Amino acid sequence: MENKLYFYNTLTKKIEQFIPNEDGKVSMYTCGPTVYHYAHIGNLRSYIMEDLLEKTLRYTGYNVKRVMNITDVGHLSSDADTGEDKMLKGAKREHKTVMEIAKYYTDAFFSDCQKLNIKTPDVVEPATNCIDEFIQMIRVLLEKGFAYEAGGNIYFDTSRLKEYYVFSNQSEKELLVGVREDVDEDANKRNKSDFVLWFTKSKFDDQELKWESPWGLGYPGWHIECSCISMKHLGEYMDIHCGGVDNIFPHHTNEVAQSESYLGHKWCNYWFHVHHLNDKSGKMSKSKGEFLTVSLLESRGYDPLVYRFFCLQSHYRKPLEFSYEVLDNMGAAYEKLVKRIGTLERDGEVDRAGFEEYRRRFEAALCDDLNSAMAITVLYDMLKADISDATKFALAEDFDRVLSLSLTVPRAGKEADPKVDAELEAYVLAKIEERKAAKKEKDFAKADAIRAELLEKGIVLEDTREGVKWKKI
Ligand code: AMP
Ligand code: ZN
Repeated sequence: MENKLYFYNTLTKKIEQFIPNEDGKVSMYTCGPTVYHYAHIGNLRSYIMEDLLEKTLRYTGYNVKRVMNITDVGHLSSDADTGEDKMLKGAKREHKTVMEIAKYYTDAFFSDCQKLNIKTPDVVEPATNCIDEFIQMIRVLLEKGFAYEAGGNIYFDTSRLKEYYVFSNQSEKELLVGVREDVDEDANKRNKSDFVLWFTKSKFDDQELKWESPWGLGYPGWHIECSCISMKHLGEYMDIHCGGVDNIFPHHTNEVAQSESYLGHKWCNYWFHVHHLNDKSGKMSKSKGEFLTVSLLESRGYDPLVYRFFCLQSHYRKPLEFSYEVLDNMGAAYEKLVKRIGTLERDGEVDRAGFEEYRRRFEAALCDDLNSAMAITVLYDMLKADISDATKFALAEDFDRVLSLSLTVPRAGKEADPKVDAELEAYVLAKIEERKAAKKEKDFAKADAIRAELLEKGIVLEDTREGVKWKKI
């Protein structure tokens, strides 16, 4: 490894050099999706940027073990201990069982990840697999006096800690407590900031998933999942824990509280958080505004990798605003880029010095707090450089180990396939004209129906500044 990797650690509020607990090895944990609905593209921004971190670690020579949970129980609507269980909500909405919902949306999540070239973590563990481990950890927390029973539930006692708000500074702390004033407080709690480790059936009469425990039939709180699942697979010391910024409080704050109380020592050294994808009205969520999913983007003619390209063009620590206009520009740039790489003559001598020079620059950009936009600039610079085509192609392949934009994969498309049937072309062009006319008359239902009809035949339309383009998939 030539460059040292630096990134922002939410725990210390500094950009720090990454030094793992064990030389050359990294243990990494990611909070997985709550599988009560499709992931929206905001959620997937977090997973894309975490994928970038994992691949950067591997690129710079680390051996990474990455674990992710699947939240299929215990995540309530408020992120704290109020509201409905999100899984129950999903099951009611679709008249299915919680486990059917979990299976369907877990599969949908990984299908989206695959389309976005997000690597599946080495270990993926649903929370409902680990009930015994949760019970064991809660038992120890009770024994050590960090937890108490009240009204049938088990709570973590935050007053037992020297510092509970490990991620926040003073003004943020006041804000957080303020926010919680509005919440319907649970009268069983000894302190406002206490949180539930185990709910008994007293919480919801219709809770489908419940298990026997020393404290009665019930189910785990959300936060305990991540502490237990990470320790089960990564042991007592962890290098990096990731999530979106909304996970910092209360989820990650509570994870630290219970894990370090259980272990009796520091648990995780680096906390990596991805800022939100917003739409014009604010933070993207599953309940408000247009529910933007990968499938929706596809049905509108976008290659999912254009969305990945869009995410990589901005820094993970900056909020990112989504708009179709920007996505269109990204689509055009991405297509041009892939085409340019497609024209490279790949056979020939690789110029070692040229290769190493650009590889070093690319790695340096990533090692500078994961500056993916700069890494893409290095890619553009490299394509313009005075080095052989074979060197450029080898570099594009090498960079794509991290960028994962399928830069060197030949495309099946109009240009790439000279045998495209003239009859098909005439048919598609006629449909495009028909759609244009429908749009002009503001008959958007008809326009959408034409797009869907073409999609069924494997033809994707893309609205670009230069007009409508199409390709075969
Ligand atoms: P959830 O399925 O709600 O548990 O969320 C899955 C992941 O998406 C978590 O890491 C969240 O922090 C993250 N997340 C939620 N909303 C957004 C958003 N608008 N932009 C980026 N990440 C998000
Ligand atoms: Zn988590």
